[in-house]
Amino acid sequence: MIIAVDGPTASGKGTIAKALAAHFGLPHLDTGLLYRAVGRQVFLDGGDPDDAGDALAAVSFPDSLLGDPHLRNEETGGLASRVSIHPPVRQALYDRQRSFATQAGGAVLDGRDIGTVIAPEAQAKLFVTASVEARARRRFLEMRERGVEVTLAAIEDDLQRRDERDRNRDVAPLVPAPDAMVIDTSALGKEEAIAAAIHAVESAAAST
Ligand code: C5P
Repeated sequence: MIIAVDGPTASGKGTIAKALAAHFGLPHLDTGLLYRAVGRQVFLDGGDPDDAGDALAAVSFPDSLLGDPHLRNEETGGLASRVSIHPPVRQALYDRQRSFATQAGGAVLDGRDIGTVIAPEAQAKLFVTASVEARARRRFLEMRERGVEVTLAAIEDDLQRRDERDRNRDVAPLVPAPDAMVIDTSALGKEEAIAAAIHAVESAAAST
């Protein structure tokens, strides 16, 4: 079974995807990490993330970069969102994601375009979302726990900018697949969100 989990930043989709993978015994790929690695590599190369050539050159980042703790920070998230606009970058990352999705036994992938582009045949498609306020609050608490000095307003601004860029790009914009089940996590705790996702996958699997 392929499970596609899409949604905006800090919606809880990564936590849900990991929990689904553990629950159903499937391998999991966080596809945002690939875009983050490209963004980080452009930075390390001293390139311009808005330049398609610089961004494409960074697609051949070394695998070791996927373990770089800098990939998780907000700055790299912003760079990822900028390099992900370029169609050749998306194309270059397609095969890697596609072969992960179609491996024997199935897989869970989370990202922005899994249910629409990478695995439109997925048996279960979830679109995990939450209000900007709820997402910013979560990110704020997470960052404060890590000792990062940041204001809630700055995080809200950043999320809004990234959402806008991800939703309005020409190629693979952030939109729910027509057959995706939407889970709004604004008012849900972690365990409730996971339970809702497991239930949604079980009902999708039962109807195929
Ligand atoms: O999910 P995450 O915040 O790690 O993603 C970082 C950025 O990578 C997103 O803002 C988005 O622009 C891009 N991305 C994408 N397609 C994916 C996953 C991530 O365009 N499948």
